[in-house]
Amino acid sequence: MNKDQLKEILSQVKSDLGIPEEIRIELKPMKIKAASISLRRNVMRINKNIIPHLDQESIKYLILHELIHYKLKSRYHNGDFYKQLYEKVEPEKARELERRILTSLLEINNIL
Ligand SMILES: [Zn+2]
Repeated sequence: MNKDQLKEILSQVKSDLGIPEEIRIELKPMKIKAASISLRRNVMRINKNIIPHLDQESIKYLILHELIHYKLKSRYHNGDFYKQLYEKVEPEKARELERRILTSLLEINNIL
């Protein structure tokens, strides 16, 4: 998956969540995170190394997860966060995708 494809997914998920702001994607090698978002600078960082390990569904989930943090302007995984998340992804599916992402993260760090 290349950066244009990531941008396309980002714009789909943004409009799905009703986020009008421009958000930039930066691909960077990261040690322990799959992705992060700056709540004020409108930049989403995605771990460059994890992209080749993930299928499209997991990548879309990763972007959704970060955009919900952005929308709520909160880094917490609290009730509001899960309420938004589960409107878009079934709880069981969300857990499965989280697991896939975590497994890939451990693989690229040679922990598994
Ligand atoms: Zn999170």
